[in-house]
Amino acid sequence: AKEQGRDNFQFYTQELTNSAFERILLETSLRRALDEEDLVLYYQPQISLANGRIIGAEALIRWNHPDMGLIAPNRFIPLAEESGLIVPIGNWVLRTACEQARYWLDIGLPLEKIAVNISGIQVLRGDISKAIKRALNYSRLDPCNLELEITESTLMHEGGQAIASLESLRTLGVELAIDDFGTGYSSLSYLKRLPIDKLKIDRSFINDAATDPNDEAIIRAIIAMGHSLQLKIVAEGVETQQQSEFLQSLGCDVVQGYYYGRPMPAAEFARLFSPVSDD
Ligand code: C2E
Ligand code: CA
Ligand code: CA
Ligand code: CA
Repeated sequence: AKEQGRDNFQFYTQELTNSAFERILLETSLRRALDEEDLVLYYQPQISLANGRIIGAEALIRWNHPDMGLIAPNRFIPLAEESGLIVPIGNWVLRTACEQARYWLDIGLPLEKIAVNISGIQVLRGDISKAIKRALNYSRLDPCNLELEITESTLMHEGGQAIASLESLRTLGVELAIDDFGTGYSSLSYLKRLPIDKLKIDRSFINDAATDPNDEAIIRAIIAMGHSLQLKIVAEGVETQQQSEFLQSLGCDVVQGYYYGRPMPAAEFARLFSPVSDD
């Protein structure tokens, strides 16, 4: 037993050492990635269920690593948040997404919204209003074309502070969406006080809606409740026609998911989005 305990201990420390070492390496190279423009935004179409048209895109970050290739955000955003790097990275995302949207509008694409994910750390530690103002001024994008996605858990952590932060963002004229809705514990009274425009139903509910009657009931409830509060409803993670039809039958406003298109590079999105087909 003693032997085994020792092995466990060794294994454990080794893993810790590795991960601490890896974290330092990763943080250093993430900092470099930001400087050397190895970060890239992919765009996933958002479709209006009222007319089946693309109305916007969600900007999703990737790290284009020189040796490892594309790295998914879940593998580096948490580290960026812990190290504070998320503030300059988030500013880069805002500026790049706004410039991209401005460009698409300039070439005649009927884009209504560019959605950008905002980390709670940006709201708490960065001057998020200033960063947004700067990105809008710099890109000459109309604030009404920018939508900020903030997760439900961020809002819950910030408590009352969140409402003040959101109010100040909303006075800029941008739209606010609650991301991953349904995974936190927002109460109805809390939701009513939030200055928001949209609820984005978490994809875990969409996934199993066809087979799990509980998920179906939750989606129905979120849509009914959201609409009664004058909020638009977006469903993410729509992968099948069946899910899309189900959401349409419930009056969901906007859908997003692999069924309509994966996140893709800007040029590819422009081709898909272009009203003139190029075959
Ligand atoms: P999220 O904001 O909930 O973004 C949706 C994620 O679901 C994306 O993963 C997207 O690729 C994926 N997805 C979209 N449609 C489908 C589908 O039909 N099926 C499945 N299985 N997945 C789908 P991605 O791009 O890996 O991003 C993961 C998370 O990383 C995002 O979750 C968001 O929380 C975070 N993230 C991405 N970009 C940024 C950013 O610029 N800033 C910050 N702070 N966070 C970001
Ligand atoms: Ca999102
Ligand atoms: Ca989400
Ligand atoms: Ca998520």
